[in-house]
Amino acid sequence: MTRYVSTRGGVEPLTFKEAVMSGLARDGGLLMPERVPSAAGELERWRKLPYADLAFEVMRLFADDIGASDLRGLVEKSYGVFRHPEVTPTVPVGPVHVLELFHGPTLAFKDVALQFLGNLFEHILSEAGGFMNIVAATSGDTGSAAIHGVRGRGRMRIFVMHPRGRVSPVQELQMTTVTDANVHNLAVEGTFDDCQNIVKDLFNDLAFRDECGLGAVNSINWARVLAQIVYYFYAAFRVMDKTGADKVSFTVPTGNFGDVFAGYMACRMGLPVERLVLATNENDILARYFNTGEYRTGAVAATLSPSMDIQVASNFERYLYCLAEADPRQVKQWMGSLKSAGSITTPGACHGCMAAGRGDTAETLFMIREFWERHNYLLDPHSAVGVAVGARFLKESVPMICLATAHPAKFGEAILRATGQDLARHPLIDKLRGLPTRLETAPADTAAVAAIIRRAIAEG
Ligand SMILES: *Cc1c(COP(=O)(O)O)cnc(C)c1O
Repeated sequence: MTRYVSTRGGVEPLTFKEAVMSGLARDGGLLMPERVPSAAGELERWRKLPYADLAFEVMRLFADDIGASDLRGLVEKSYGVFRHPEVTPTVPVGPVHVLELFHGPTLAFKDVALQFLGNLFEHILSEAGGFMNIVAATSGDTGSAAIHGVRGRGRMRIFVMHPRGRVSPVQELQMTTVTDANVHNLAVEGTFDDCQNIVKDLFNDLAFRDECGLGAVNSINWARVLAQIVYYFYAAFRVMDKTGADKVSFTVPTGNFGDVFAGYMACRMGLPVERLVLATNENDILARYFNTGEYRTGAVAATLSPSMDIQVASNFERYLYCLAEADPRQVKQWMGSLKSAGSITTPGACHGCMAAGRGDTAETLFMIREFWERHNYLLDPHSAVGVAVGARFLKESVPMICLATAHPAKFGEAILRATGQDLARHPLIDKLRGLPTRLETAPADTAAVAAIIRRAIAEG
């Protein structure tokens, strides 16, 4: 049985289902599997599996308190809604392989995890007979993916906070045009980090958390990380088959460290990865950390890749826990230093395959233009950051897989700026314009948000 422990060591070990339902650990830490299972002996058998079958195999190593046929059903339901038969196909483009993660309902990679999580919550709640109030912070894409994962479901209500005016117009429409009664969009007068802090504060108020039955869909929820591990295996297998290579590298546009942490887990499980490149935009706290060993927060800058405009990466604590070799006292000391001094310094930063770099606005625009003009392929600005940084680590013998985290049509203005043309369209986005919307504004204040949640619960 895989058990889940807190990075801060203050909770009794949990089962997978308990870990999913609690989101953040009750001592303020993040939940981690006690052991990372090895997949080394499974690679040959997994290699030919279609996406959903592979997802089942990977997930059951971690989710062993869900019956096999239930888990298979959840996976098939979640990935059946993707618009591509391969779910996450890989296409060769110029010198790299682009892993397209945007074929889900909201055109961003977060659908891969959040379609699954919505179904998983429903499964667990209907078994146990409960109701959940989900609170989420979004810099743009999590919100719409989470909303589409839970809209219209009877056992869940969702409150999504986004920094007012700081998400793209399309991202905002993708959230606010969902007018199901169980969906509440809150535009918070602050930054994404403010939204994320409110979520953490609400979860750390244990009385409120229990009173409201809070649930988490941000990547602090282990099930998010788990669902994302799958496509690292899937893409590596496809590209190794296509090229005959015996290992691959990945480049991952990074904000909250969730996606790249899933890649790190895949490496730890035994996937043959030469380099796992973490790519940031100007908000480069993680890139600086991996190159200097010092994690120091600064001010958030607004960029063309808003889903990566983050200074405090919530999943970083999971990596610290690995770096501390599962010693929660060390993690607590580091997190204390972040709180008191605004920085953490660790001995050594790059574990195994990790590498990191920053791609700025000029490079982002250049890459979008370059890929369009040379290869007739449109990258969204987040994916372009990943490609720009990954390009520094290209090696003849090892294919580079670039994670494409959003469809370019979500970020039409950046595409226009890069290419001079309005090229990025998608029918799912075109049809949002003119639909009715629902949105409420809120101050960047935990008590005010708590009051909004209580009021909605009281109203039924
Ligand atoms: C969320 C997001 C990212 C960052 O992913 P993390 O898991 O937070 O590192 C990158 N690109 C897009 C398009 C996203 O929506």
